[in-house]
Amino acid sequence: MNLGLKGRTAIVTGASVGIGLAIAEGLAAEGTNLILAARGGERMAAECSRIAGTFGVTATPVAADVATEAGVAAIVDAAKAAGVDILVNNAGTGSGETVLDAPDAKWDQYWDLHVKAAVRLARGVHPLMKARGGGVILHNASICATQPLWYEPVYNVSKAALLMFSKTLSYEFIKDNIRVNTVNAGLILTPDWIKTAKQLTAASGGDYEAYLQKVADDFAPIRRFGTPEEAANLFVFLASARASYCVGSTYYVDGGMLRTI
Ligand code: NDP
Repeated sequence: MNLGLKGRTAIVTGASVGIGLAIAEGLAAEGTNLILAARGGERMAAECSRIAGTFGVTATPVAADVATEAGVAAIVDAAKAAGVDILVNNAGTGSGETVLDAPDAKWDQYWDLHVKAAVRLARGVHPLMKARGGGVILHNASICATQPLWYEPVYNVSKAALLMFSKTLSYEFIKDNIRVNTVNAGLILTPDWIKTAKQLTAASGGDYEAYLQKVADDFAPIRRFGTPEEAANLFVFLASARASYCVGSTYYVDGGMLRTI
């Protein structure tokens, strides 16, 4: 299938590892040029060199914290120089708290990272995409946006807000031929999950793989984690010309984890 992504330019935030890196690689494999952002500039630059060398595309690293105005401005500046057709808002992270013990600062931090980053980037890329005749914006929310995990209320709530932002934005931007959609992933095995599993099992023998298998058995009918590539495939399709009638929707890649229809 020709996805029509060759020669396009995509921003991916949180692209130095995990799902964001897999999305970047998936797009690069289709010939898409990249602007890749993460806070850790050295790791991002190293991945950009590797991706450019492997896939023959351009890959521009931006060291930026998307939860800040300055970080978003740096990404938009890179897009002004290179042009942009696709934005994947992927940067984000899990939390762990109760409502009673999470201070206001934690709610603010996750609002800035999961919601305001997407708002600011939407404002920044809109004129650039409009000038090119259209574009695509994808939000990486989470299954937790609609089916919460009890131990991370701040994550659940901020991802639900991102999902609503995405739906709302889709109405406003489709007038300019910019398609906005959301992907809700279930359990995706990133290095961060492995690190957490190792920490949680360190005191009890260190069988982190058994811990991860139990998580998969408990939550996902498919009884395994997905790979970052399995999640990325959906983003690449939705970013492509083949998804031209997909607007304002939420798509799941979750091994059956969602318990509703
Ligand atoms: P990782 O922790 O593996 O990677 C996160 C990436 O985001 C890194 O590149 C990190 O680099 C970057 N990042 C984090 N904070 C910021 C910031 N403030 N500004 C810029 N970049 C940032 O995450 P995953 O791949 O697991 O998750 C990616 C997205 O997918 C997240 O939004 C997550 O909520 C969502 N998701 C993940 C699931 C999973 O099971 N893994 C399931 C459902 C959704 P650096 O630290 O250098 O900034």
